[in-house]
Amino acid sequence: MRTRLASSSSFEATAQQRLFDLTPAHRELQNEARRFAQEVVAPRAAEIDESDRYPVDIVQKLAEEGFMGMVVPQAYGGSNASLLNTTLVTEEIAKASAVVARIVVDANTAVPGALIHYGTESQKQRYLPWIVAGDKPAIAITEPDAGSAASELETAAKREGDIYVLNGEKRWISGGGISRLYLVFARFEGRPGPNGIGGVLVESTNPGLKIDRVRKIMGLRGMPEADVLLQDCRVPPEAVLVPPGDGFSKLMRAYNRQRVGAAAIALGVAQTAFDHALRYVQQRKQFGRFIGEFQGLQWMLADMHAKLEAARLLVYRAASNAGHAFPDPVEAATAKLVTAEDAIEVTNAALQIHGAMGYSCELPLERMLRDVRMYAIGGGTTQILRNVIASRLLPKHFFKSAPRRPNGTQEK
Ligand SMILES: Cc1cc2nc3c(=O)[nH]c(=O)nc-3n(C[C@H](O)[C@H](O)[C@H](O)COP(=O)(O)OP(=O)(O)OC[C@H]3O[C@@H](n4cnc5c(N)ncnc54)[C@H](O)[C@@H]3O)c2cc1C
Repeated sequence: MRTRLASSSSFEATAQQRLFDLTPAHRELQNEARRFAQEVVAPRAAEIDESDRYPVDIVQKLAEEGFMGMVVPQAYGGSNASLLNTTLVTEEIAKASAVVARIVVDANTAVPGALIHYGTESQKQRYLPWIVAGDKPAIAITEPDAGSAASELETAAKREGDIYVLNGEKRWISGGGISRLYLVFARFEGRPGPNGIGGVLVESTNPGLKIDRVRKIMGLRGMPEADVLLQDCRVPPEAVLVPPGDGFSKLMRAYNRQRVGAAAIALGVAQTAFDHALRYVQQRKQFGRFIGEFQGLQWMLADMHAKLEAARLLVYRAASNAGHAFPDPVEAATAKLVTAEDAIEVTNAALQIHGAMGYSCELPLERMLRDVRMYAIGGGTTQILRNVIASRLLPKHFFKSAPRRPNGTQEK
């Protein structure tokens, strides 16, 4: 197993060495994650996609390996990993399965980040160990009428005596039905605008939290995407993780970690698609020659390689600069924008290079293309990411006439 791994990834390992100055400890972690991904995750990837079942046993193994909640401080059971560490692990796991990598991202980015940086001691003590033990938290922002325009969300948090009562509808909640912990974005006391929004921690056992339906989706199968209803969902004031005021902008800062994680997933998937294509052109013959001898395909491979290198640099930079905290919003948006679009192109080109076999379900290329397509949509569409970037390029008055000022905090 190890020999096969070494030979299939040697090209990429050399490329990474030149690309970014990873320390020996980073490389060791990367190797551990690669070994786990190829030995434990890769053999199950097709089955998880086909069965569309959350891979509970693999999540348990992720936890045993220390990849769930690895960013959590040691005092709460984690290993205090940086965002770059978790990014390297995510990329390796995504090379085997995008959906398993998604679990790693959720267990290491937005929700744990918000808990670590904004949580009270008792919130940390209760929830961080859950994540480390394998409970992937869910983040509930999106609503029927608030997708990109996240700051228009309507889920209400109303104070009634000594409790808060939540009412609203959430859509597209990854892990809805399997997660024990939901970070719900809600509007407090009807206060308008982003300043009225805060974050509340709701447990799955709360009778006011209901799973309405799980949607059937194109890719990333194995992760339930649920509509979640909050119906007279009663929580104590201690459940408020981030109160309104500057709450929404604080939550979005934490959310930027998830963007870097998403970019790492897209990168890992596209790298594997590229690796497949590079091997295939050296095996498949047409017109009496290996198809890799045709310059048309050589140029495709060169473009794919260039896109992967550029994307990797952006992802590692955003993660590295974040350290243990939050990435710069524009660095995160740039990393996700470039990686999402390039990963779709690279994966599609890899499928094309395989001809009919690329289109068949006997090879994983079609699954990878279905999986990677999501990253131009979820967690900030590529249009919204462009808005975030533009907001730093131009002075504020350029956005006055726009329906919404794309300042990177009002949109998702
Ligand atoms: C698989 C999956 C998992 C998800 N997981 C979660 C989750 O766990 N939690 C959660 O809260 N949400 C989740 N989402 C929701 C996701 O974040 C939203 O789908 C995303 O933010 C876009 O919102 P929307 O789908 O409502 O599209 P819309 O906002 O309706 O956008 C429709 C189109 O209009 C474009 N558009 C909108 N506004 C602008 C603008 N100002 N300028 C230019 N173009 C614009 C968009 O780019 C898009 O092309 C998930 C989605 C998917 C598909």
